[in-house]
Parts: sequence; structure tokens; C-alpha cells
Amino acid sequence: MLFSRSPAAGHLASIAFRGRSYWQVLTRVAPVAGAIHGTFALLFQGMGASRLALGNLAFTALWGVIYGLLRGRHNRLAVLLLWVAIPGHSLLATLVLGWDSGFHYYVLLMVPVMFVSPGRQNTTRVLLGTLLAVFYVALDISARRTVPLEPIAAGALDWVRFFNMASTFFVLGYLAHVYFGVVGVAEGHLRALATTDSLTGLANRRRILDVANYEIQRGRREGTPLSFVLGDVDHFKRINDGRGHETGDQVLMAMAGVLRSVVRERDTVARWGGEEFLVVLPETGLEEAMRVSERARLAMENGVWPDDRPVTMTLGVSQWRPDETLAEAVARADEALYRGKHAGRNRSVLERPAVQPNSLPSSPARR
Ligand code: GH3
Ligand code: MG
Ligand code: MG
Repeated sequence: MLFSRSPAAGHLASIAFRGRSYWQVLTRVAPVAGAIHGTFALLFQGMGASRLALGNLAFTALWGVIYGLLRGRHNRLAVLLLWVAIPGHSLLATLVLGWDSGFHYYVLLMVPVMFVSPGRQNTTRVLLGTLLAVFYVALDISARRTVPLEPIAAGALDWVRFFNMASTFFVLGYLAHVYFGVVGVAEGHLRALATTDSLTGLANRRRILDVANYEIQRGRREGTPLSFVLGDVDHFKRINDGRGHETGDQVLMAMAGVLRSVVRERDTVARWGGEEFLVVLPETGLEEAMRVSERARLAMENGVWPDDRPVTMTLGVSQWRPDETLAEAVARADEALYRGKHAGRNRSVLERPAVQPNSLPSSPARR
């Protein structure tokens, strides 16, 4: 039997997720920004403004450097260059071609970049945001009151402005798209953490309660059978005391793998408590549930465990009865398990039959 590493390691990694996603977004946007500058270089070269073309080529290279820094995780330096690349470029281009060139729109792209960035105090964000707004207004005032350093023909200027408008829309849309994609992945990651037992990777108690209640609703609606198997490791305290808590943990992880291997894809195995496991078997009657329980028990009995010492499990099996709650059905499995412990352990025990035999739906063919 293989002992896998605990998925608990994922917990720590998730703490840094928000920061990581921010850098992922910037890394995706950097090549787009480089491509926009590259297009400008070609556009200006075509218009005969070779100095502007050269300037844009330099900014294409700068975005290349930013991309490289982000890939190499030199994030601080990358952000510093970002401030040169976006507001710096907007300032230069507006002074050279005038306010109507529309290069100032790119300054607005710094707003999402600033407010979503990780690791900054809110006061720093507000301060930077205010500085940026002041910069934008000052740029407006100075550009409108001074003559552009290298004016181009009015018609060409219109096209430059339209291109800048379109680019700003595109980059904002792309930023939002990438960001929501990354947030969606983070959400899925957190949901998995909230519903998974960190030691065994099985469903946790919260998740199994949801699954079982959902299946009870379905059983009520469709009249399909639903069964539960509750297992408890035999003399687990001895394993902990004799071979150490860590070995105990390894045994629990391996047991989770064994339980998963004896059920269908649609059955759910959960860590119910310390060394107790609950299996929810939808569309399964008592007889079939008993077979699953025995499969699990035999797999434990025949498993290869640390120090070649046997590890066994006692299991109680119950079937949900119409009009009863989840707690009542699980309590009957627990009562059967308790009887199994008293009868000598390492066995599967059926719930006591109902006082008035009622017509329980029987199990359809499995698999
Ligand atoms: P029985 O056959 O009657 O079930 O005997 P037992 O020794 O298993 O009895 P009990 O259920 O009282 O003991 C459960 C032990 O499981 C006690 C607790 O320290 C241990 N345990 C609970 N959670 C964990 C865990 O996450 N890791 C480890 N290593 N031990 C755990
Ligand atoms: Mg126990
Ligand atoms: Mg036990």
C-alpha cells in the first residue's frame, strides 16, 4: 500500500493565491501591451514619423523586459518599470502629439492595476490613486495649453486617437476577462479546501452532510434507495500509542485510498470524525451496501500496513427509510457499528430491522 503525502500542503499555498493571481494577470497583459506598441511603431513608420516609430519600438522592448521580469518573479522591479511604461509613455506621447492623440487614456489602465495589487495598504492605494488623478488633470491642462512638440496631420491624429480608444477598451476588457478567470480558479480552489478533509483528501463532514441531504431529497422525489456505511478503525489508539501519531496519520490516509477504491464513482466517502469514515451509497439497497462494506473490510484486512501489523475496521450498515432524517439513518449505522465492536471487531454489521417491516425500495444493478 502506498502512503501519499497529505493534501494539507495545499493549504499554505492557497494563502498566497491572491497575490499569485495578480502577477498572473500582469504576465498575461504584458505581451498585449508590447504588441500595441509594436503596432504603433509600424503605424508611425508608415506615416513617415520615424522618431515616433523608434520611440514605440523602445517601449515594445521595455514591455519585453517587464514580461521577462514577471516570468522571473522580479515583481518589484517589474512594477517600477510598469509605472514608466504606462504613465511615462502617456506623458511623453501626449506632450509630443497633443491631448487629442488620446494617449492619456492609457493612464486610466493604472486604476485597476493599482487597486487590485496585493500587499499594499489601503492608504497607499488611495494615495497613489489620488496622485494619478492629479497627474491626469495636470497632463490635461498642460497638453491643452502647449503646442505639441511634433504635431502630425489632423486626419492621422484622428486615427491615432481611435486606435488608442480601441486599445484601451480592448485592454480593459481583456484585464477583466483574465482577472475573472483567475478569480474563478481561486474560488474553485477555496471551495475544494472548504469541503475536503485536509489529511485524507476525502470529503469532510460538511460536504458529506450536503451530499447525503441532497440524496435524501432525491430519494423522496424518485423513490430510489439510499444506504450508509459507517466504519471505525479498530484499536486505533494502539496504533497511535505503539507506532506514533504520524504512522496513525499515514494509516488514515491509506485507509481513505482503500475505501475510495471499493466504491463506485458516484458514491461519496468522507472522513466523518477522527478515525471514522462514512460512505454514502445512492441508489443502493441494504444487501448491496453490505457487500460494499465487506469489500472494504476485506481490503483493510488484507492490506499491507506499516510494520506489517494488521489494521482492521468495524462497519455498520443502514438504509435510509422514507420520512426519516439523515441523523436517524446514520444513528442506526452507528448502533450497528457499536454492536460490531462488542461482538469482537473486524466485521460488518447490518442495522436492526424496522419494527414494522415497511416496503423499502430495493437495490438496482450496480455498475
Ligand atoms: P475501537 O476499536 O473501540 O474503536 O478502539 P479505538 O482505539 O479506535 O478507540 P477510539 O475510537 O476511542 O480512539 C480513536 C483514536 O483516534 C483516539 C484519537 O487520538 C485518534 N485520532 C483521532 N483523530 C486522529 C488523527 O487525525 N490522527 C491520528 N493519528 N489519530 C487520531
Ligand atoms: Mg472512534
Ligand atoms: Mg476506533
